[in-house]
Amino acid sequence: MSEQQTFDVVVIGGGPAGYHAAIRAAQLGLKTACIDAGMGKDGTPALGGTCLRVGCVPSKALLDSSRQFWNLQHLFPEHGIATKDAKIDVGTMVGRKDKIVKQFTGGIALLFKANKITTIHGFGTLFPGNVVKVKQHDGSELELKGTNVILAAGSDSIELPFAKFGEHIVDNVGALDFTAVPKRLGVIGAGVIGLELGSVWKRLGAEVVILEAMPEFLPAADAEVAKVAAKEFKKQGLDIRLGAKVSKTEVRKDGVHVTYSDAKGEQTLVVDKLLVSVGRKAASKGLLADGTGVKLDARGVVEVDEHCHTGVDGVWAVGDCVRGPMLAHKGFEEGIAVAELIAGLPGHVNYDTIPWVIYTEPEIAWVGRTEQQLKAEGIPFKTGSFPFAAIGRAVAMGEPAGFVKVIAHAETDRVLGLHLVGVGVSELVHEGVLTMEFNGSADDLARICHAHPTLSEAIHDAAMAVDKRAIHKVN
Ligand code: NAD
Repeated sequence: MSEQQTFDVVVIGGGPAGYHAAIRAAQLGLKTACIDAGMGKDGTPALGGTCLRVGCVPSKALLDSSRQFWNLQHLFPEHGIATKDAKIDVGTMVGRKDKIVKQFTGGIALLFKANKITTIHGFGTLFPGNVVKVKQHDGSELELKGTNVILAAGSDSIELPFAKFGEHIVDNVGALDFTAVPKRLGVIGAGVIGLELGSVWKRLGAEVVILEAMPEFLPAADAEVAKVAAKEFKKQGLDIRLGAKVSKTEVRKDGVHVTYSDAKGEQTLVVDKLLVSVGRKAASKGLLADGTGVKLDARGVVEVDEHCHTGVDGVWAVGDCVRGPMLAHKGFEEGIAVAELIAGLPGHVNYDTIPWVIYTEPEIAWVGRTEQQLKAEGIPFKTGSFPFAAIGRAVAMGEPAGFVKVIAHAETDRVLGLHLVGVGVSELVHEGVLTMEFNGSADDLARICHAHPTLSEAIHDAAMAVDKRAIHKVN
C-alpha cells in the first residue's frame, strides 16, 4: 500500500450529496478528496451516483422521449397535425439517454478537476481515526486520512427474496435499458419509480400492470391530488391494482409468473418483464470497519443528528445513506451544509421546505404538509384550489388535467403547503418553496403579479381562493 495521503475533507461517494459536499468544501479552500466506486455503462468510472448514472437524469431522458411519442399519437391530432404509423426506435432512444448520462457524469469529473478535488475511483471504507482505505478498480489499495470524513454512500434498490433480479426481473437500472418495448410489463410498487418507469413503457406501447401492496394510492401525497392522478393514469391505460401483495414469482418460458393476493384472493399475472420498485435501502454495506464508533440503525441507515454529524469527531453523513427522504436535492443541500459547517459557516437544511416531484403525466408535486397531516397534528387550516381546466395556457396546450391547492394556517394565513397535479408542476412547486422559506402567507401569494397567460396563474387563483376571492371561478 502506498503512503497515507492527508486531506481536510475526504468524501466517500460522488453522488448528488457527495459531489455537492466535495465542490463546496473545495470552494471554501479545504483540501478535498472524493472517492467513488461508480461505473458507467461503458465500463469506465462515472461520477454522479444513482442520480446521474441510473436515476433522475436517465429516467427523465426516457420520460421525455416517451412523452414525445405519446403526444405524437394522442395530442398532435387535436392540433391538426397528422401522424400515421409513428414508430419508436428503442435503441436510438436508449442511446440518446446514454449520451446525456455521459455528458453529465463527465461534467462532474470536469468540475472536480476545476476545483482541484482529488478524485479516487474505488470503494472506500472508514476505519477508526478518520482513516479511509480505498480498494481501487485495479485491485490496488490506497489509504487516506481526513480531518473530516463525509459519508455519502447513497442507496441501493431493495431486492425481494422471491423476485431475484436477472434478465426478466429488473430494478430501475434494468428498466432503463430494455432493448425493445416489452409487450407486458409488471411493476411491483406504485411508488415514484414504479409510476415513472411504468409510464415510460406504457407510453411506448407496453401493457403495464402495477401491483401495490398498500390499499391507498400515493398515501404521502395530498389525497385529492392522488385521486386526480389515479384517474388520469387510468385514462392512459396504466392498470394500478391496490392492496395487491406479491408472494411469489417464477420465470418460465412464457414469461414471469407473478403470484399475488388481493381482496378477491390469490391471483396470477404473467408478464414479459417485471420491474421491482419497492423502495431503496442505505448503501452502508462495507462502509464502516469495526471500531469507528459510527452507528447504523436496524435498516443500515447511518445515524446522524440534525446537522448530519455522526457523533464521532469529524465524521459526517449525508444523502440517501441517512434519515429523511431519498431525494437528490435533499442530498445536495445536506452536502453543502456539511461542507459549510466544516469551514465554520452556519450550514443549514430546512427539511420542512423540501419539494417532492413525481415526473408522470400529469406531474405531481408538493411542498409542506398535506391536509391529512395537518388534521392529524390538530393544526387549523384553510385551503384554496384552482383547476388547470380554467387556465387559458393549460387549455391552449391541450393539458387541462389537474389542479393546484394552497393550504394556509387558519389564523395566521401562513402557507403550510402547496400541492399540485398537472402539466409543468415540477417547476411551479417552487413558488410554494419560496413562499414557505420566507414565511409568506396565502395573501402574499395572491398579491404577487403573475404573468398572463401562464400556468402559474393557477397558483395565484388558488391563493386567492383561500379567502374566497378567486376571480376565475365561483368561490
Ligand atoms: P417508494 O418508496 O416510492 O415506493 C415503493 C412502493 O412499493 C410503496 O408504495 C410500497 O407500498 C410498495 N411496496 C413495497 N413492498 C411491496 C410488495 N411486496 N408488493 C407490492 N408493493 C410493495 O420506492 P421506489 O419507487 O422504489 O423509489 C425509491 C426511492 O427513490 C424513493 O425514496 C423515492 O423517493 C426515490 N426516487 C425519487 C424520484 C423522484 O423524486 N422523482 C424518482 C425515483 C426515485
